[in-house]
Amino acid sequence: MLSTMQDVPLLISRILTHGARIHGSSRVTTWTGEGAPQRRTFAEIGGRTAQLAHALREDLGVEGDDRVATLMWNNAEHVEAYFAIPSMGAVLHTLNLRLPAEQLVWIVNHAADRVVIANGSLLPLLAPLLPHLPTVEHVVVSGPGDRTLLADAHARVHEYEDLIAGKPTDYDWPELDERTAASMCYTSGTTGDPKGVVYSHRSIYLHSMQVNMAQSMGLTDQDTSLIVVPQFHVNAWGLPHATFMTGVNMLMPDRFLQPGPLAEMIESEKPTHAAAVPTIWQGLLAELTVKPRDVTSLTQVTIGGSACPPALMSAFDDLGMRVCHAWGMTETSPLGTIARPPAQVVGLPEEFAYRLTQGRFPAGVEARLSGPGGERLPWDGESAGELEVRGPWIAGAYYNGPGGEVLRPADKFSEDGWLKTGDVGTISPDGFLTLTDRAKDVIKSGGEWISSVELENALMAHPAVAEAAVVAVPDDRWGERPLATVVLKEGADADFETLRAFLAEEGKIAKWQLPERWTIVEAVPKTSVGKFDKKVLRRRYAEGALDITQL
Ligand code: ADP
Repeated sequence: MLSTMQDVPLLISRILTHGARIHGSSRVTTWTGEGAPQRRTFAEIGGRTAQLAHALREDLGVEGDDRVATLMWNNAEHVEAYFAIPSMGAVLHTLNLRLPAEQLVWIVNHAADRVVIANGSLLPLLAPLLPHLPTVEHVVVSGPGDRTLLADAHARVHEYEDLIAGKPTDYDWPELDERTAASMCYTSGTTGDPKGVVYSHRSIYLHSMQVNMAQSMGLTDQDTSLIVVPQFHVNAWGLPHATFMTGVNMLMPDRFLQPGPLAEMIESEKPTHAAAVPTIWQGLLAELTVKPRDVTSLTQVTIGGSACPPALMSAFDDLGMRVCHAWGMTETSPLGTIARPPAQVVGLPEEFAYRLTQGRFPAGVEARLSGPGGERLPWDGESAGELEVRGPWIAGAYYNGPGGEVLRPADKFSEDGWLKTGDVGTISPDGFLTLTDRAKDVIKSGGEWISSVELENALMAHPAVAEAAVVAVPDDRWGERPLATVVLKEGADADFETLRAFLAEEGKIAKWQLPERWTIVEAVPKTSVGKFDKKVLRRRYAEGALDITQL
């Protein structure tokens, strides 16, 4: 028997028209560095989104599932592109502006982008790439920047504001199939060639509803969210879509991502929520220690992308900024788990331990753990295996070409269609995920596994340590052993013996897991999305470029 319910497709255009009408007075505020920030209401964004869609169709000839790329910071125009491109039926392709040039070229060519909307400040990055991007016919430039850099471009160059000026502020959005492509995002290539994940209207719609749940971020139109996580990093964790559903105000940092300007925007714009990877918050914490500011408005901080160090969580708690830890990946849209402790531990000492886990799975994400031989492992909080997930906003394949053919590599997808995350961890009987490592980062010492994350967290709890990354290095006797690379806080001093003793203290780390190889580095190398780049550390070690002390 079929249901008697209406079958209304879950479309991005519906999120847009809802936000622009029902939450028309909510705002997107974009930081400009100097002078007043740019402020635009959701109603204005709705009108300008329609104008952009008209311009793309009528002036640039965008049609069907043409790919329109963005090379942009987080700002109001990027939000307009987020809604205009998928709503008109085309495919938004957000480009990660921190990728190496060759990877960007590879990705644009692979996706066959026809148009690139770029911020003027990023033209020095785009201009030298353009000769290698034959599919790009148009470049639309928004915001300050030197246009003469594009003087020799083969593509036609347009000004964003000129292009949309005078266009109608409404658009008859097409009634698309909700399963069609809305946007695409390539994985950042930490684990090999970038892979294209293509989100559907339906997956984004359902994911946005999940982001908005009280058990997830649970924001309302009384909130302002400082969206530091880039719009090119898994759709800024779904926030631009989710906020249009509920009227949450967006505070966009544009290119001002350094700790100083971030602290300034928090003090003056008073966001109630913020989202970013741990490295951003480590930077902000150091800034606030040197130069205290009024950050009391900010009561909820979503941290994900890599494990949140316990010391960072405590320090933020002390400042009144409550951290909520979440796990996800490009392939999971990204919300996979979020660490809201269960009711029965709230206010008890165990609560902190729950908050440090990667969190619980929402109803839309099913999970299982797979052992080394592919066997299912119990949810007992002890058996560690590879996490596999499935659900309506989890990727089932990678993009592999304009004919719609897809890739399903066996190391990424199980035979029965689950996503193999490459993350290793345990799940407790009450459904809380604790990741111990990425499969490729775990240290395999004498047949036992050592968690690099556990060592890093313990090290970063030492008062002299600003950052610490631990990687596996080859060892004749044990196969692999941990190498600790440490960044000391400015003016701080600690020798390796002291740090090692600190790790061993109170049984924090089992004796056999303590690193014997140590080195001080000026900074831990970071990936394009601000995570520790362990590949680079392993390479530097192999090349003998690190000054190693053996204890
Ligand atoms: P990349 O794989 O290039 O880093 P993603 O942003 O898709 O790009 O990264 C997803 C990965 O980041 C996850 O598979 C996991 O290893 C790591 N990750 C994300 N959130 C967390 C978290 N809260 N704790 C630990 N690891 C995390």
